[in-house]
Amino acid sequence: EQTAAKIAAGEVVVDPSAVVKELVENAIDAKATAITINIEDGGKSKIEVTDNGLGIDFEDVELAFARHGTSKIQTMEDLDQLETLGFRGEALASIAAVSRVRVKTSSRKDGLGTMYSHRGNHQEKEAIAWARGTSILVEDLFYNTPARLKHLKKSNDENRKIIRMVQVLSMSHPEISFGLFLDGSSYMKTPGRGDLLLVLQSVFGNQQVGRWMEATYENEPLQLNGYLGSPYETKRNRDHQFIFINNRYISETRFNKAIEDAYGSMLMINQHPVFVLNIHLPSHMLDVNIHPAKTKVQVHNESLFLLLLKDGIRQILRSNLD
Ligand code: ADP
Ligand code: MG
Repeated sequence: EQTAAKIAAGEVVVDPSAVVKELVENAIDAKATAITINIEDGGKSKIEVTDNGLGIDFEDVELAFARHGTSKIQTMEDLDQLETLGFRGEALASIAAVSRVRVKTSSRKDGLGTMYSHRGNHQEKEAIAWARGTSILVEDLFYNTPARLKHLKKSNDENRKIIRMVQVLSMSHPEISFGLFLDGSSYMKTPGRGDLLLVLQSVFGNQQVGRWMEATYENEPLQLNGYLGSPYETKRNRDHQFIFINNRYISETRFNKAIEDAYGSMLMINQHPVFVLNIHLPSHMLDVNIHPAKTKVQVHNESLFLLLLKDGIRQILRSNLD
């Protein structure tokens, strides 16, 4: 049973950033409006996610750690609706199989909560004082799976993946305030006021965003919105480029290149524009990998799509720069 749990954990929990993603998505599911993420040693020694969401009832805490205990997928139709976050009901179980986990949570207004720790075969539960919401502490990731532990990168590299993950989550949820701390110092904080531009100001800093162009464009079946950076405020790599398709973060370099193509000769050689772009397409034009952690997509008739995309970006640039 333990071995099976550890193997299954490999599916969901590949690195610290995947743990962050699952814990944050649970907080979002619990309707949190503020989420704080605390990381130490690139998440290798500590990942802590604290939210002000609905909390977990005293009686339900063990259930939250049960494999498939809570899967939100009820029918095959649900599977088609990938909007449902965290669909397999096994993230917490998987994380607990490969780390030491401690939860503090309350679903109540009277300040009464629960502490539950899950460390290997040892579980403990007690009533504590806790304001409504949940804090999940994950320590010593992969302490019991040496092969995985060995694959973890230097703290800086793990931090870089975590930062990008939190940036993506905060751009997807401008209405939620995200705070990220790395080894005790604040790395970023978004205001949670529902405005993407404010999120971008927190993520990239004020100066740059002042020159950004609002991207809104529609040309059936394609719709674009977000922000494009100026062709004169470019970067040496693509770390400041974010593409979402139907609100899902996508990593397909071909799309980044098409957008850069549209900037054309305005860009200096080896320079990359900054952008955060949400592309909307009818779902029948897409094949999205069913695994929620995957960032790959296939667009039917991709070459036509890329032409439409380039055209849209060109139009946005033209109307902003003329
Ligand atoms: P899933 O999200 O697919 O249900 P998880 O293993 O990620 O599976 O979470 C199990 C359950 O634990 C959730 O369904 C939820 O009931 C509870 N839970 C986990 N994290 C939180 C949280 N931050 N706030 C409230 N409930 C939570
Ligand atoms: Mg989940």
